[in-house]
Amino acid sequence: MCGCGGGTSEIKRVHQMRWCVVPASFLAVIVLVQPSYSQESSVNSSQSLLSSSPLLKPWLGPHGGVPPWNEVRVDEFDAAFDAAIEQAEKEINQIANQSAPPTFENTILAMETVGEALHRVEVLFDVHAGNLNLGPIPDLERSITPKLAAYSDSVTQNAALFARIEAIHDDVFEKKTATLDDDAKRLLDETFKSFVRRGARLSPEDKSKLSQINTRLARLFTDFNQNVLEEEKGHVTWIDDESRLSGVPQSTRDAMAVAAEEKGGKAKWAVTNTRSSMDPFLTNADDRELREEVWRNYYFRSDNNDQYDNKGIIREILNLRAARAKLLGYPTHAHWRMESTMAGTPDRAMDLMMKVWPHAVQRVATEVADMQAIADAEMEAAGKPKIKIEPWDYRYYAEKVRAKKYDLDMAEVRPYLQLDRLVEAMMWCADELFGFQFRPIGNLPVFHPDVTVYEVVQKSDGSHVGLFYLDPFAREGKRSGAWMMDYRGQSGWDLDPASADVPVRTPIVSNNSNFVPAADGKPVLISWDDATTLFHEFGHALHGLSSRVHYPSQSGTNVARDFVEFPSQVLEHWLSTPEVLTRYATHYETGEPMPKELLDKIEASSKFNSGFETVEYLACAILDMKLHQLQAGDIDISEFEKSALAEIGMPDELPMRHRLPHFSHLFSSDAYSAGYYSYLWSDALTADAAEMFVEAGSFFDEETAAKLFDHILSVGDTIDPVETYRNFRGRDVDTEALLRKRGFAE
Ligand SMILES: [Zn+2]
Repeated sequence: MCGCGGGTSEIKRVHQMRWCVVPASFLAVIVLVQPSYSQESSVNSSQSLLSSSPLLKPWLGPHGGVPPWNEVRVDEFDAAFDAAIEQAEKEINQIANQSAPPTFENTILAMETVGEALHRVEVLFDVHAGNLNLGPIPDLERSITPKLAAYSDSVTQNAALFARIEAIHDDVFEKKTATLDDDAKRLLDETFKSFVRRGARLSPEDKSKLSQINTRLARLFTDFNQNVLEEEKGHVTWIDDESRLSGVPQSTRDAMAVAAEEKGGKAKWAVTNTRSSMDPFLTNADDRELREEVWRNYYFRSDNNDQYDNKGIIREILNLRAARAKLLGYPTHAHWRMESTMAGTPDRAMDLMMKVWPHAVQRVATEVADMQAIADAEMEAAGKPKIKIEPWDYRYYAEKVRAKKYDLDMAEVRPYLQLDRLVEAMMWCADELFGFQFRPIGNLPVFHPDVTVYEVVQKSDGSHVGLFYLDPFAREGKRSGAWMMDYRGQSGWDLDPASADVPVRTPIVSNNSNFVPAADGKPVLISWDDATTLFHEFGHALHGLSSRVHYPSQSGTNVARDFVEFPSQVLEHWLSTPEVLTRYATHYETGEPMPKELLDKIEASSKFNSGFETVEYLACAILDMKLHQLQAGDIDISEFEKSALAEIGMPDELPMRHRLPHFSHLFSSDAYSAGYYSYLWSDALTADAAEMFVEAGSFFDEETAAKLFDHILSVGDTIDPVETYRNFRGRDVDTEALLRKRGFAE
């Protein structure tokens, strides 16, 4: 099971050099309040701010300093960003314009510590944007994002700086007059390629064209987002007649009543136009007509040919992306985006997807046949005419198949899944596997009372590994979903701070989720899917904590986009091990461990509905890749979606998980464009790695765990992912394992 198969952007700061910043545009999706706000004028000059503002000063406290949450004043963010960007630009110019001939040390290494103050204020701000998005924060996001984008462009378009990087690259790779250690060599090469990819080699006219394209795209991304938000706010299914709620469990009805009140109380119950509202309703409601209405509202977001329709915006985005790729010398946007990935080319990603696709489609046919049989029997018993399974029937009849085939009601599992116990469980796994012990510490600043800070120490010698901040609960102003974030990346592994050429730092990482706190101190019970996500995010956290690298840019989760989900997805496997479930899945009232019978049912049904899950995801990933390999043109988005789906044989009974008009991964930023396949790519590695543990006889096999640590978790981006995977597995990935994992191989 994959916590993010549907894909949320739940890892921040993926694959970025220290000098580069990624505007938090994805976070801007979640804008809860938009008060008018006027910025007080700042009397501080940049220089004095740098030394006086808690947002910018080096962090104080134990373990090399901790984020000063208690000192953050949000009205200081704007001025702090201005001062930090000015300082970073100054540092870049000092490197670019120095008179000394270019060397790795005075250029590449120097760039590794550019913008430290900017990095600190970004961390503090990103947490406010993600976890505390209230008051002036949404407005601040809108004003800060373009400044960060402009700063990024100014670095990659700095001709003097690039000339130095190119000269060093030539010395090492072409003339071979200089030699470097492997990790330094890779850092140089990646820095060089990244500059070229971002237009460092263009003529001044083309650079300015590129900047214009980027600026226009940033605007279109924001517009796209706003339209989807409006569509989610604007369409509500109102219900006054309680009989139409037949089948809907009480907890869902309660949530629907709360939603109705929040939406203005036009009726007693409301299904709002979000996934978390739509999904339980379609799964449970007996009223087929209502299911269809809810389904149509949701799957036609921003596709209603009105002011919030996104099809025109998508066309313009595609044209600009194609033009940019051409300007930068790439055949298509997909080729440009994928150059820095493990897959490398659109064809290789497409090959993996098309290997899985026919199996998934075939599985859907089986799932539909099972559902159709139940529907036929029901209709006959009720004396009604037969129905054909439609997309708004899939979730509903799938639950009936689950109950019939596996005698499993997921509601039975919940009392055994207590959040506190599962947090203990994941930390126990980290101890068993890697010797990491987590100890809560109460004396450090936090940004909210919900947050717990843990010190992570190495069991063998008690040495400090890093800090882990856990923010588990939903609250107003917190973005939805679950994600991991680095507050500070590890660097300078094994170096003496007195003589090190980079800062010697231990990692600080966080996990963030949206569990609903229980009333009166009762234990928080969560679903199996949520428990899987908990382990998934903890996998990202362990990736950050395990880092043992020299250079900041290469640390922890700063790896290729289609590799970064591997450590997190692989950790999901530990949830369902008997070692974890017998110890930690205990009933919240009786304390009894989960009965063997229930464990067996979970195991037996682990591949249930994998046709639906794989097809709804893969259809998106395949269309993403096809769309971004088109040459510019005035394509009709509806027509493209229809014909591309027909071409691959999309089953009628389910839609793409994200239809193009609201596919935010692709059109709210560049980050996941031509990149939605990444989840499948990483899952191929995950499935193959999990089999290695199975072959070793246990998911707690010491030798295999050590290999996972040495070759995957600790190496960051110091080595090519293909090579390090080979070192871990002893061979290249066997993609058949992916088919076996999803039950498509038999
Ligand atoms: Zn993830």
